[in-house]
Amino acid sequence: GKVDLSCDVLVLGAGPGGYSAAFRAADLGLNVVLVERYATLGGVCLNVGCIPSKALLHVASVIDETAHFAELGVTFEPPKVDRVKLAAHKGKVVGKLTSGLAAMAKMRKVTVVRGYGAFVDAHHVQVELTEGEGQNKTGATQTVQFKRAIVAAGSQAVRLPFLPEDPRIVDSTGALLLDHAPKNMLIVGGGIIGLEMGTVYSTLGARLDVVEMLEGLMPGADRDLVKVWQKINARRFDRIMLGTKTVAAEARPDGIWVTFEGDGAPTEPQRYDLVLQAVGRSPNGRKIAADKAGVAVNERGFIPVDVQQRTNVPHIFAIGDIVGQPMLAHKAVHEGHVAAEVCAGELKDDEALAKTAFDARVIPSVAYTDPEIAWVGLTEDAAKAQGIAVTKGLFPWSASGRAIANGRDEGFTKLLFDKATHRIVGGGIVGTHAGDLIGEIALAIEMGADAVDIGRTVHPHPTLGESIGLAAEAAEGSCTDLP
Ligand code: FAD
Repeated sequence: GKVDLSCDVLVLGAGPGGYSAAFRAADLGLNVVLVERYATLGGVCLNVGCIPSKALLHVASVIDETAHFAELGVTFEPPKVDRVKLAAHKGKVVGKLTSGLAAMAKMRKVTVVRGYGAFVDAHHVQVELTEGEGQNKTGATQTVQFKRAIVAAGSQAVRLPFLPEDPRIVDSTGALLLDHAPKNMLIVGGGIIGLEMGTVYSTLGARLDVVEMLEGLMPGADRDLVKVWQKINARRFDRIMLGTKTVAAEARPDGIWVTFEGDGAPTEPQRYDLVLQAVGRSPNGRKIAADKAGVAVNERGFIPVDVQQRTNVPHIFAIGDIVGQPMLAHKAVHEGHVAAEVCAGELKDDEALAKTAFDARVIPSVAYTDPEIAWVGLTEDAAKAQGIAVTKGLFPWSASGRAIANGRDEGFTKLLFDKATHRIVGGGIVGTHAGDLIGEIALAIEMGADAVDIGRTVHPHPTLGESIGLAAEAAEGSCTDLP
């Protein structure tokens, strides 16, 4: 067939994985085509994920913070929230970042093709061009020939099949629009995304119910961290339904009536103004005609890859949400760099570069709730399950001068060290700014640090980050005398 464009590397999807791969490949001297169906670059993370949610969470945390200020002798007028203006602010934040990406793509001479791409064979992708793009007409297509391809087509929210189509039933994308002002709201799924959005809506005035199939909120996080979070956040919830299934829902004029199944769950259907589905995300592996290129997709829609991000087809790579858990932007970015470097190494005969592999020991997770919960490496439960004996170092923030000065001393920092090797194997923090602190623990794990390395590293006083050094000292068994 006819070829409209040809390139060294075609990147399918312009989320954090895709744009990182495209930019790295271009920086390494390759000729890159980046295919994206949406008008802006940035994927889920920038457009409808990480960034807009954090813009709203920041506003929520300021509102929550100032609510306590009367006790400190400072009073404000109660907040008045203009949802339209707030949504516009969120849009501006997103716009600043996505237009920045467009400028960077241009600077690097990455050719962006707007439209929906699917494989034709192992060396061609056909793009159904997005309408309204310059001379593009409906039905117009472009065929791109590539030497290497990097699939970065991401994931989308799972939809529960028994929930009816109704504007009052939303996923995270719908919730971010802020065009509902619910008095009461059900969050289906007590993971990070559900609880982050719940935090925003609760601060804006909604009472929350949350239903989670598993036995605890924030699956994956250390239970001690979640306990602290739950105590501080109890005021937001009418019900926290654990070990409970959502089994049916009916849209009526007065609300969405939802039926639950589980010990202690209400036996009668409950009425909600808004229902947020946050039960996970499913990969887009089955939507790109991967089979035409011979690329294997598993039964769940993930594309299996090796440590070089290579699929079963040696010149086709995959990165980000589409290759598996954890579905996080920082994982996608690092995988994107690996895939780009391997491609460049092979195409430019650079042996060292061609040997690049993804070998991160750990990938941190953060819930940007209030307080934040952040964790990396093993939790106590995981260590036990893997038969690894650990020494624990704990530092309660009630002994942190900075946390007390901030009026937020409910948090703690926990470090876990392998008893046999003394090296740090995991850590968790619950408290304000926990997400900004966890990187140090990730670095310590990557460097193979032990408690002495961390404890003797001079941390600035008074900071929340100091709690990491002090937790390490606690594990060493030495006493700490800094307040
Ligand atoms: P995506 O970001 O999903 O990008 C894929 C891109 O490919 C999309 O732009 C899509 O339009 C495009 N595409 C797909 N198929 C085609 C096709 N056939 N043709 C053309 N284009 C196509 N992660 C964090 O690390 N931190 C957070 O704080 C965080 N918060 C989140 C909050 C919410 C509400 C949500 C939903 C997610 C959040 N995530 C967060 C997860 C994060 O957004 C994802 O892990 C990340 O976006 C994955 O990047 P990706 O490059 O793999 O794919």
